[in-house]
Amino acid sequence: MVVMIEVAENVFCCEGTAVNWIILRDGRDLTLIDGGWPGDAPAVEESIRSLGCRPEDVQAMLLTHAHVDHMGALKDLHRRYGIPVYTGEVEVRHARREFLEQATVEDVQKAPQELLLPWLERVLNVGALDDPTIPDATPIPPGPLDLPGAPVAVPAPGHTTGHLAFHLPGSAALVTGDALVTGHALSPIDGPQLIPWFFTHEEEQAHATLAVFEALDVDLILPGHGRPANLAIAEAVAIARRNAAQAAAERGLD
Ligand SMILES: [Zn+2]
Repeated sequence: MVVMIEVAENVFCCEGTAVNWIILRDGRDLTLIDGGWPGDAPAVEESIRSLGCRPEDVQAMLLTHAHVDHMGALKDLHRRYGIPVYTGEVEVRHARREFLEQATVEDVQKAPQELLLPWLERVLNVGALDDPTIPDATPIPPGPLDLPGAPVAVPAPGHTTGHLAFHLPGSAALVTGDALVTGHALSPIDGPQLIPWFFTHEEEQAHATLAVFEALDVDLILPGHGRPANLAIAEAVAIARRNAAQAAAERGLD
């Protein structure tokens, strides 16, 4: 059974294999933001059907960034139902695998060992090594999108160069993807934080993105990993910065 919470009116947060996706509803029409690992595809479909909707009711699938744990299931839904996949101009090229900014097996081994093995076992079971390439992912224009939930794409580089967040002004919510999370299976920290550093392409950019988030009207954080948080964005960012400073000190970087 997929865990799904209505975090704001017509905004649903679903939990897959240590990763989240978001469904926005307008009548029968849906927008899906991210979709979990390849093996999460049946759970994504179940989350759609549990709202009394069909996959064909999904008007578009938006991608925060082209990592296998966020786009894996979208590939399957795209192939089976022809639902279009949109992301930013740079991330489209990432989704097409014209380049790859993803942690290697070597990078991931920097995680605490006691967390790494159980996580690896889980994610290898849901297609962590599958090829998630979506060759016909399409760039989205800036500004409010004419889609259920009226999400607004916000450039949020750092974790990947083309990473996007999606602001939902009507709900004062922010779908942060991996630019700001509240937990991760490979992080010992609970609460707002940058994703573990070994997953991050460009740490300085990731910090700059926190400053961008701070300027938005947001008091509901919907992260790619960890629980949704009813928290003013300024407070979440302050906690994330403190956690980052502490993690950097532990790595001997301060
Ligand atoms: Zn990621």
